[in-house]
Amino acid sequence: MSQSYLFEPAPRPTVPIVGMEMVYPVRRIYCVGRNYADHAREMGHDPDREPPFFFSKPADALVVGSAPVAYPPLTKELHYEGELVVALARGGRNLNREEAAAAISGFAVGNDLTRRDMQAEAKALRRPWDLSKGFDGSAVVGPISLADRVGVCARGRIASYVNDELRQDADLGQMIWPVIDVIQFLSHSVTLAAGDLIMTGTPSGVGRLERGDVVRVEIENLEPIETHIL
Ligand code: MN
Repeated sequence: MSQSYLFEPAPRPTVPIVGMEMVYPVRRIYCVGRNYADHAREMGHDPDREPPFFFSKPADALVVGSAPVAYPPLTKELHYEGELVVALARGGRNLNREEAAAAISGFAVGNDLTRRDMQAEAKALRRPWDLSKGFDGSAVVGPISLADRVGVCARGRIASYVNDELRQDADLGQMIWPVIDVIQFLSHSVTLAAGDLIMTGTPSGVGRLERGDVVRVEIENLEPIETHIL
């Protein structure tokens, strides 16, 4: 007997793949907190090599490519965070380095939009980050470049611009926990699967966005994203 739904389920969020007709179906969106020492410092933390920590965004918070984003409610401090995004082609638990490397489908440029004032309040009151990080339109992800075309993205310039003014300028090689380590750590906490995206953390230089701003994030060898804030 086939199951019938009470209402039509929402379609699965997808991301385009560079040079292909097929699209990448998204399952979950994970994010790494504080993965660049200089950003950890600017947020008031000691960037010693503590294990990475993670949070997540709902898959339907996804904004694909350069689609515009409405300024979210309940904040006066919307921040951009330019980040490398890893897309998984397979998953599993307790992955070793080889398995973690083999799990990678490709890479994309991302912007982990954040309601910074709400996040600061959550930190102070020991409340969860969910709504400061996982609001509608908070996960901006550009087209995915498959790893067999761009390699492992261990190095390369990552830069963010607001209205053409340079704000973040770093190298992926400065990550405290490189991509393979991030996948391994996460696989010890949850079962990863094909369709999982991981936003791998932002370098220093995060800052505010206002209505009308255009934020552009670029990573060497990947498709850039440009987001109009409405
Ligand atoms: Mn982030």
